[in-house]
Amino acid sequence: MSDKFDVIVIGAGPAGYVAAIRAAQLGLKTACIDAFTGKDGKQALGGTCLNVGCIPSKALLDSSKQFHNLTHNFAVHGITADNAKIDVATFIGRKDKIVKQFTGGIGQLFKANKVTAFYGTGKLLKGNSVEITANDGSKQTISATNVILASGSVPIELPFAKFDNKFIVDNAGALDFPEVPKRLGVIGAGVIGLELGSVWGRLGADVTILEALPDFLSVADADVAKIAAKEFAKQGLKIKLGAKLTKAEIKGNEVALTYEDKDGAHELTVDKLLVAVGRRAYTAGLLADDTGVKLDERGRIVVDEHNHTGVDGVWAIGDAVRGPMLAHKGSEEGVAVAEWIAGKAGHVNFDTIPWVIYTEPEIAWAGKTEKELKDAGIPYKVGTFPFAAIGRAVAMNEAVGQVKMLAHAETDRLLGVHMVGPGVSELIAEAVVTMEFKGSAEDLARIVHAHPTLSEAVHEAALSVDKRAIHKGN
Ligand SMILES: Cc1cc2nc3c(=O)[nH]c(=O)nc-3n(C[C@H](O)[C@H](O)[C@H](O)COP(=O)(O)OP(=O)(O)OC[C@H]3O[C@@H](n4cnc5c(N)ncnc54)[C@H](O)[C@@H]3O)c2cc1C
Repeated sequence: MSDKFDVIVIGAGPAGYVAAIRAAQLGLKTACIDAFTGKDGKQALGGTCLNVGCIPSKALLDSSKQFHNLTHNFAVHGITADNAKIDVATFIGRKDKIVKQFTGGIGQLFKANKVTAFYGTGKLLKGNSVEITANDGSKQTISATNVILASGSVPIELPFAKFDNKFIVDNAGALDFPEVPKRLGVIGAGVIGLELGSVWGRLGADVTILEALPDFLSVADADVAKIAAKEFAKQGLKIKLGAKLTKAEIKGNEVALTYEDKDGAHELTVDKLLVAVGRRAYTAGLLADDTGVKLDERGRIVVDEHNHTGVDGVWAIGDAVRGPMLAHKGSEEGVAVAEWIAGKAGHVNFDTIPWVIYTEPEIAWAGKTEKELKDAGIPYKVGTFPFAAIGRAVAMNEAVGQVKMLAHAETDRLLGVHMVGPGVSELIAEAVVTMEFKGSAEDLARIVHAHPTLSEAVHEAALSVDKRAIHKGN
């Protein structure tokens, strides 16, 4: 079969499926190709995010939080329960149901928007046609004026700790353990390691996280990282910094690890090992040799500031290109590219992309860290406000962490907001809106915030930039 489209998208993760829907909304005849097979053996749209990333991890984080609260935090409310148990099959089954609901939902959205979905592996050929290889090996070629590459990313494998998907696993494996591991080793204290380490730690696993870097969460603001590290330690997560894994050997039903830190070599035995040392752009089989699309030294598809590859009509978005590997970054690139193709003014502001880590407490930030401002020589003022002084947080028994705000010393323009505490995954949106509109700390300080809410911490931090917070000393 041969067919001509206006737009072909390769990859139906949050970058690709969003690009396809937006292109179709703009009246472009659109196809989207994806190779992902779900647990039921059928095509599962939605990519890493919906199948083995954002959504399933948040489902397990929420369930494990309920269990942890029941077993650790409810007594203060006068609520106790004897013999609280976790049924792992139900716990995982609930997650699978949510994944199926959302991956199926993409199929429905494709139908509603008249996006033609193809199941198979897409390979870009010279001249903007795409060869699709189905699971049974059969091939067909379709073509388009524009092709958007959205092939995403895959976990990085360590040569001395290869995934066997039973004892040494990646994110997908750690979302599907059949029982709570007694001892869980995690390599990498990044977002994925912390979130999935928290999931199993809350259910009773003895979790040790080895991080090769000397600093904890070096991408985040230092104050936030410090508060978070203290809270994670209280929860029993053992985070070892400057600890480099050198060997992981499966021995019977265990994994024997060797790691090195400043004190020398150490041994650690665990029942499961999650390797979460980062992800790399995935382009295997995506490009015929003569397409002219280039990859950089890290294997990412090279694009300009408009996500164009430099090859006529070929674009690339999401984890497969430069920039943070975040679902919402990829989705916004998808929307922007569809709009550029349709001759409209697409737009992605990299300066205000929010980051969220869904641990307990949550961590969220947008804009510059204090170190980035210092390094760039930008003069700034700091305002902070602790959740301990927020009535709602105390009533919730979740009064940990703070909001920290950085504003330009002369213009007061909001430059960065860094939060650790309850509900900050939602609170960060207010900071993003303010920064997007080039607002100031004073703008936030003058906005009425409902009482009692967690958002009062944002308000008070903004007041504190000008040393006039009401509920703390300035
Ligand atoms: C455990 C975990 C938790 C995460 N949590 C969050 C979070 O809370 N928030 C957040 O913003 N981000 C999170 N992420 C990151 C997020 O999942 C990614 O940034 C996002 O999925 C990238 O979207 P994408 O569309 O670029 O690629 P992907 O989601 O990786 O999708 C790419 C799709 O393309 C398909 N594909 C690849 N090559 C081909 C080909 N040649 N032909 C056909 N199909 C192909 C793949 O099968 C896949 O379905 C998480 C990731 C993990 C692993």
